[in-house]
Formats: sequence, C-alpha cells, structure tokens
Amino acid sequence: MITSFQSPRLLLIGGGAVAKAAEVLAQFGLSRPLVVTDPFMVSSGTVERALAAPLRAAGIDPVLFSDTVPDPTDTVIEAGVAILKSGTFDCLLGFGGGSPMDTAKAMAILAAAPAGAKMRDFKVPAQANAAALPVICVPTTAGTGSEATRFTVITDTERDEKMLIAGLGALPLAAIVDYELTFSVPPRTTADTGIDSLTHALEAFVSKRANDESDEYALRAMRLIAPNLRTVYAEPRNAMARATMMKGATFAGLAFSNSSVALVHGMSRPIGAHFHVPHGLSNAMLLPAVTAFGLNDALPRYAEAARAMGVASAAEGDQAAGAKLVEELTALNRDLAVPTPERHGIDAAKWDGLIPTMAQQALASGSPANNPRVPDAAE
Ligand code: NAD
Repeated sequence: MITSFQSPRLLLIGGGAVAKAAEVLAQFGLSRPLVVTDPFMVSSGTVERALAAPLRAAGIDPVLFSDTVPDPTDTVIEAGVAILKSGTFDCLLGFGGGSPMDTAKAMAILAAAPAGAKMRDFKVPAQANAAALPVICVPTTAGTGSEATRFTVITDTERDEKMLIAGLGALPLAAIVDYELTFSVPPRTTADTGIDSLTHALEAFVSKRANDESDEYALRAMRLIAPNLRTVYAEPRNAMARATMMKGATFAGLAFSNSSVALVHGMSRPIGAHFHVPHGLSNAMLLPAVTAFGLNDALPRYAEAARAMGVASAAEGDQAAGAKLVEELTALNRDLAVPTPERHGIDAAKWDGLIPTMAQQALASGSPANNPRVPDAAE
C-alpha cells in the first residue's frame, strides 16, 4: 500500500522559537515578508514585540496587514491580495490564531490565480495546489494546527458558507511553533481552541481516510492534549501544559491533514457561518453527541482513542472504553463550561429554521462522508 504524507518543510518547535524567525526566513532565502495578523495582535503589542522588532534588528523590514477577521472572509482575502500585489514581497508570514494563518494561506492561493478568480473557485473538491508566494506560519493559539495543514477555511460572504479549501498551495513552507505566545490566551479561547485540537486528533483517527502515518500523529496528539486541557484552562501560565498543548495541536494538524476531519467539522462549519460561534466552541458543542452517534461503527478505534487519552485502561474491553470516551467528552464540556447553542445566545427559532440548510451544507462539504457512521440529512 502506498501512503502519502505531507508536512511543512520545517517545523521549529519550542519556547522562544519565534525569536528565530529571521533565521528561518534566511534559510529559505527570503527577506521581504508581508505579515498577516489580526487587530488584537497589533493593539496588544504582541506582533511588534515578538516578531516585528526582532526582524528589524536582523535587517528585515516587515510590512503588516492586520485587517483580518475571525472566520476569514473572501472579501478580506481579496483586500489582502491587492496589498500583496502592490508590493515586492517574497513571502507571507501568518501570525496569530487560525484566522490570520488561514488568511495568509488563502491570499497566497488567490494571488496565484488569474484575475477575476474567486475563493469559491477553490472550494473542495477543487484542488488549490498553486501559491503565489511561500507561507510561513506562527500560531498563537493551540489550536487549529493550520500551521501544519494543507487546508484553509474561508467564508463565502454571498452564500454564508464556510468553505473548505485544500491543496498543496495551502501547506505552509515552514511553521514556528512557540508555546510562549499562548500564555496570553484567555481561558474561554484556550478551552475552545484546545477542544478543536482534540477534535482534530480524534476525527483523524476514526476517519475512513486514516492511515498508519496519520494514526501515529493522532494518537500522539491525543496523549499530549487530553491530560493538559483542564490544566491550561485553569492555569494559563503553566509552561509545561502550554508547551504540551502546543505540540499536540501541531501534531493533530499533521494527523488530520494527512487523514481528514469528519462529521463534527462538517456540522461545525455551517454553525460558524450562520451564527458566528467560535470554531472550537461549535466543535465542542457537537463532539460528545457526534462521538456517541458513530461509536458502534468504529468501536475498536474509539476505544483505542479513549486509552490514548488516558480515560480507559488497556485491561478494559472496547465497549467499556468507548462508553468512557463519551462520558469523558461530556465531562470535559462541563468542566470547560461549554454552553449549549441556546445558552450561547443563539435564537432557537432561527436555529430551527436553518437546520435543513445547515444539514445540506454539512453533507455537501464532504467531511461527514469520512465519519465512521455517515448520517443522512434527517439524522
Ligand atoms: P482565531 O484566530 O479566530 O482567534 C480567536 C481570538 O483569539 C481572536 O480574538 C484572537 O485575537 C485571539 N488570540 C489569538 N492568539 C492570542 C493570544 N496569544 N493571546 C490572546 N488572544 C489571542 O481563532 P482560532 O481558533 O485559532 O482559529 C479559528 C479559525 O481557524 C476558524 O476560521 C477555523 O475555521 C480555522 N481552522 C482552520 C484549520 C486549517 O487547517 N486551516 C483548522 C481548524 C480551524
């Protein structure tokens, strides 16, 4: 059997790694970055302190594009491409959570396309293999794993649809993974992004597209993430827990990028598009129920995941281990204060009215087809 495994050419992982950004650029012969970040990274001084000032000290003058938004939109990407084309940049440096990193990746893809192209032209099942410039990612959440994936997720503003865009054009050249950047992430975002990374690892592992290589990263990610999620939520300055979560998030990214995500992500994207629930939070709302839905269709896999997460022992049979997994995911939501959609402030009538549309959009995205149990629209 032949398997393919795709990853960035360089992963620089560890506390203080961001200080080596200039060295990383130099290794690839790059010196004129357009830094894609978000307004908070600028207003908090993070991008200046951690990235821009050290780059300038090394003789590199970064230009900032910080007009990015959470759940990046096609219109923001188009504005970013106009800035990209107005300069003589030789790379894009995505600095922030998944939103700025995905924005940088999508800008590289759209800038390589003929004039008049739209982000929706690249929506899966299309392949986005070309990029105008290399992208280097520096994640500040742990996290989406976008720094290590061949995906970018962009909202089509005309259709209120979060589109999955996949291909080598979205795979970063390099990632600088520095957990010290996550000390400032508030508890709510820490929990949401942490559950996002756990969902990546679990979905990659139970996916119909899992393979030996993706399994290695998925299991490792679950071992790293599961015992540390509650700790980083309660103790934001716990360096060991932050470091372990950050590494786990990147490994989970490698896992699902080489396997796939599945039903949780398929259902989560329409919730994000219509109700602007943060991505990790909508994953968290869905994870226990979706796991229970598919449990018996891939019981040995779910049981192995439970053992990797440390919630079931090797001595326990698959049925018991699978049940403990669902219990643990439910307990995790309680402990990390994950609200129901209603408690999150979503209008119940609007929610009910949009269920047929969201079901159709979820199924059309392709991700649910990778789930151990594939639902129909009514389910
Ligand atoms: P985000 O990038 O939208 O950031 C969420 C919030 O956290 C923002 O307000 C941001 O300013 C803040 N923040 C980020 N880093 C911080 C820090 N160090 N300290 C304090 N605040 C900080 O959130 P995210 O969850 O990282 O990314 C979500 C996006 O990523 C979604 O659009 C989702 O669809 C996408 N995604 C992409 C992939 C992929 O493979 N490309 C995978 C999963 C999710």
